[in-house]
Amino acid sequence: MIGIAIDGPSGAGKSTIARALAKELGYIYVDTGAIYRTVGLYMYRVGVSTEDTAGIEKNLPDVRFALRYENGEQKMYLGDEDVSDKIRTPIIAKYASVVSAVPSVRAFLLETQKKLARENNVIMDGRDIGTVILPHADVKIFLTASAESRADRRVKQLAEKGEIVGYEETLAAIRERDERDSGRDVAPLKPAEDAVLLDTSALNLEESVAAAKRIVEDRLAAKKVQHTAKKKDKNRRGFYRWVVNYIGPIVRCCMRLHVYGAEKEQTEGPLLVCANHTAMLDVFSLTLTFKRQLRYLAKKELFKIPLLSQLISALGAYAVDRGANDVGAIKKTLSLLADGEAVGMFPQGTRYRGVDPAKTPVKSGVGMMVYRSHADVQPVFIRVKNYKYRFLRRKDVIIGDPIRYEEFGFTNGGKEEYERAAQLVFDRILALRNEGLDP
Ligand code: C5P
Repeated sequence: MIGIAIDGPSGAGKSTIARALAKELGYIYVDTGAIYRTVGLYMYRVGVSTEDTAGIEKNLPDVRFALRYENGEQKMYLGDEDVSDKIRTPIIAKYASVVSAVPSVRAFLLETQKKLARENNVIMDGRDIGTVILPHADVKIFLTASAESRADRRVKQLAEKGEIVGYEETLAAIRERDERDSGRDVAPLKPAEDAVLLDTSALNLEESVAAAKRIVEDRLAAKKVQHTAKKKDKNRRGFYRWVVNYIGPIVRCCMRLHVYGAEKEQTEGPLLVCANHTAMLDVFSLTLTFKRQLRYLAKKELFKIPLLSQLISALGAYAVDRGANDVGAIKKTLSLLADGEAVGMFPQGTRYRGVDPAKTPVKSGVGMMVYRSHADVQPVFIRVKNYKYRFLRRKDVIIGDPIRYEEFGFTNGGKEEYERAAQLVFDRILALRNEGLDP
């Protein structure tokens, strides 16, 4: 079910906008204010004063309200009486605002609202929809408008119905209600953290509806993209597992991989796996060594080669533009780490065939990644004869103890700290070079 939450102060245009959107999307429109108004009407009728919280609580269990849809319109009932129009008076607006500040009233109405959203695609408007009723709503909009423009609209609206009210008194009533709705302890009126703010002060009705519609469409489209990406990710993992389980053992055997320290693998949480780099095949050596899937940056040119492109993406590679300062690749790496994935990186920044790794320079990039991601680092030394890689020649993959993020002792980042961190990683890699060899 899809849930769209529209919150905001009274008079910002919530109901008109929500109603128009619901019609267009074929969802049901739930006006939650009307429910509070119905409870307010009941209290007013039984003669409870707005000051009397205990009286409100005492009478609450007797409120028999019902919400029905007639010709697509929400109607409010008290017992068998249709009160949809009777709740639209200034005095009942005040009662609604008062009863809605009573925690037991909110608790009493909570399930009704949640149930509606569980069973239908809904657009709900109110004060706490995005924060309390539908915290996981697909779209959240917080609609605002200055108190002056809301008062102005209200006066004109009532004038159209032949009711003449003063601007100043309307403005004062709006301010009073805003204050009560925002200042109360329980479910105060405030935007959810992930709500999109829409200020309609300078917009007319059509413009407001159009702006809200754009927000809804953009958000729903983004959700769909996310959904497709998740599906793709699942397929990738499936393929990866298949390759590792069925082809992995043969390749591992041909590559003559010998693993040391497999038990040291950090199998959960964000991890940068850092190794010395001699050949492209290092990627396969690491992939076939680690139990968890490793993701890699691969130069974007590789993604242009048919078949290879599909293979490496399925195995978890993603593109980097090495010529440019590729911000996208950095962001992608950070977001993978934030999702708790493991990313393989080579601190030397490039391959050094036939060169003793101890004699090669180290780039600061890994240090920056550690600083920005707060990930731990697993050092790995890949030992090959003469630092010349051959597919069929023996390779030792030596896994070292993880370096905890705290060990780097970062203070506030910067090139020097990144270089120092990268050097620390590389020293730990080099320290593994003689592991398992006879002294
Ligand atoms: O939106 P409407 O003006 O009809 O709401 C009447 C009153 O009900 C509001 O002033 C507000 O105090 C209360 N309300 C609420 N939470 C909601 C909807 C309305 O507290 N979700």
